[in-house]
Amino acid sequence: MVFKSEKTKQSSHLSFYLGSVKLDQCSHFVMLQAQKELLNYNSTGISVLEMSHRSSDFLKIINKTESLLRELLNIPTNYKVMFLQGGGSGQFSAVPLNLIGLKEDRCADYLVTGTWSAKAAKEAEKYGKVNVVHPKLDSYTKIPDPSSWTLNPSASYVYYCCNETVHGVEYNFVPETNGVVLVGDMSSNFLSRPVDVSKFGLIFAGAQKNAGCAGVTVVIVRDDLLGHTLKECPIVLDYKVQAEMNSMYNTPPCFSIYIMGLVLEWIKNNGGSTAMDKLNKQKSSMIYDIIDSSDGFYVCPVDTACRSRMNLPFRLGKRGGDEALEKEFLEGASKRGMISLKGHRSVGGIRASLYNAVTLEETEALADYMKEFLKDHK
Ligand SMILES: *Cc1c(COP(=O)(O)O)cnc(C)c1O
Repeated sequence: MVFKSEKTKQSSHLSFYLGSVKLDQCSHFVMLQAQKELLNYNSTGISVLEMSHRSSDFLKIINKTESLLRELLNIPTNYKVMFLQGGGSGQFSAVPLNLIGLKEDRCADYLVTGTWSAKAAKEAEKYGKVNVVHPKLDSYTKIPDPSSWTLNPSASYVYYCCNETVHGVEYNFVPETNGVVLVGDMSSNFLSRPVDVSKFGLIFAGAQKNAGCAGVTVVIVRDDLLGHTLKECPIVLDYKVQAEMNSMYNTPPCFSIYIMGLVLEWIKNNGGSTAMDKLNKQKSSMIYDIIDSSDGFYVCPVDTACRSRMNLPFRLGKRGGDEALEKEFLEGASKRGMISLKGHRSVGGIRASLYNAVTLEETEALADYMKEFLKDHK
């Protein structure tokens, strides 16, 4: 969900999935700071947009972004942090290209709990054997019980998507892999809660959902996993090469890295991942409470145990998906300045994405609107 306001219109048309109405809030802190510095960054006389990625000024920016990230996620020193291009989807290929060769069998275990992990598994099939560790789900509304998973002890890694953005399915636990390398796609819940990085071999996250703007993807990888890359791996996706060159084998997405640095600064100034955790719990339960007490007017199809705190999908109407009513709901929301509430085109309905930058007040505004709409249409 993004909130429209006069201030956001004036300050920028950078439309991350961040939205806010107050000056001390994330998108304003970030966008106003970027606006202020756009023409003359830190008295250098030039813009970050004009900077050479090899300049000492940009090196300071990338190093600062990395150290903020290390601090916020408590990243152990034996992990490398990279800022790459190609998005989350690029990592669907990079992960198997770099890691499936860790063991001779060239096979990997995948948990397929939504659109994004399904895409990742399909991509990995190009490079090795993929074992989906549970029976195929007929709808992406739950996480199969871990006791039913058939993990392969000789898999090179176990892959899962920590938060399925389209279907609103989020893991509230870190899968136990019995020593096999764990890979997590955190694109849509990165920095929304604390995470024990040491349980993972690799974490990746595209910045544009919860940590910045499009163009940069963070990869955090344990250093002993480097160097097993398949020979057909494109060099820009080779973790070992990029890690050794501090993400600068080729030109990195400089401006996106700079923006991410500002977002991290805001997170740090606002209590870090623990504070985000608390806030996101509060925000999401406010909306789920309305859904659950609406007597079936609002319906969220996802199992309560794995309902996402970031992406809340729901349908409207007694028949569980009245499109005309949903259209009316979206139009009414838009009149109140709430946009980007439409469900993903593949599932329809409504989806409230309550990323870090969505404030408690904005969530309250959505909650009030939902209550009012319910009262008027019941
Ligand atoms: C959006 C998203 C992706 C894909 O990101 P792109 O940057 O568009 O390639 C991958 N995984 C998850 C969980 C996402 O939400």
